[in-house]
Amino acid sequence: MLSKVALVTGANKGIGYAIVRNLALQYAQRISTVPLTIFLTARNQNLGQESLKKIEQELKSRQILKDDSGKIELKFLRMDLTDEQSIKDVGEILERDYNGLDILINNAGIAFRGNVFDTNVVRTTLATNFYGTLNVCNHLYPLIRPNGRLVNISSGVGKLKILSSELQKEFSRDDLDINGLIGLMKKFEKDVEENRWKEEGWPTQSYAVSKVGVTALTKIFARRADSEGKNILVHACCPGWVATDMTVPNASRTPDQGAETPVYLSLDEEVVPKTKNGEFWIYNKVVSW
Ligand code: NDP
Repeated sequence: MLSKVALVTGANKGIGYAIVRNLALQYAQRISTVPLTIFLTARNQNLGQESLKKIEQELKSRQILKDDSGKIELKFLRMDLTDEQSIKDVGEILERDYNGLDILINNAGIAFRGNVFDTNVVRTTLATNFYGTLNVCNHLYPLIRPNGRLVNISSGVGKLKILSSELQKEFSRDDLDINGLIGLMKKFEKDVEENRWKEEGWPTQSYAVSKVGVTALTKIFARRADSEGKNILVHACCPGWVATDMTVPNASRTPDQGAETPVYLSLDEEVVPKTKNGEFWIYNKVVSW
């Protein structure tokens, strides 16, 4: 029987790890007999494989792995968002061995600690969070089969209101395309480099702007999905404030709780009639961007 295929980026720890685990646990409880292969991807091979083993052990003890007549299969692939070749390599494997994929969850991301803000911080943050996520979408979205899902982990700090009203208009245009969006992100980099970000309407938060970019690119891919008519659901979401290496130990939610909305958007049937494509979600609900 042909498997369904899911892939999660940056899944060796934090919310990505919890997404893989919860995707497996929730899918195992579904009535469908179709097996699900989940690719846990990470930029560090050893860390990724260790994490895979940990989840595998738990799934084994619950007898939901394919080897124990269950329907979940876990696999590791190395993928670094800043290494386009590694993304292409993953795409080739998915195409060759699985003829595509059904669920793509873009989770990997970085955030500098403290209030650091300069050209280097902006470039480095955008390279992973915006351009990296965009590259994954460019190479893997075309492989998503009809009725599939694309879920991008953005953030509530990347709301439009952090920008000037002129920039808000530009980012939320219905005809914004990828080139237009890249142009806006390049303008941010240039305005920081030339020390005029304030008068040009940007905040001093590279992470937040990178996530504005992630939500904007989600909307562009949602419009593409609608125009292709393959019934692919495309959404952005915020996991809430989650205790991971990115934040602080006393953040209000656990990684498993942070995984709730992305897993809901990946699996749940009721998402489909509930809303149009390309929305921004938190706690399983659509909120304004
Ligand atoms: P963590 O720092 O715990 O995990 C981030 C993951 O992304 C790690 O697996 C990391 O790998 C990976 N990663 C970083 N850079 C790359 C890269 N170039 N290629 C591949 N993987 C990479 O953070 P969280 O789990 O908290 O964050 C997950 C997502 O959720 C991020 O997109 C974040 O912005 C978002 N988010 C988190 C919130 C929170 O409160 N925690 C709130 C809102 C959004 P490695 O271990 O090798 O560094």
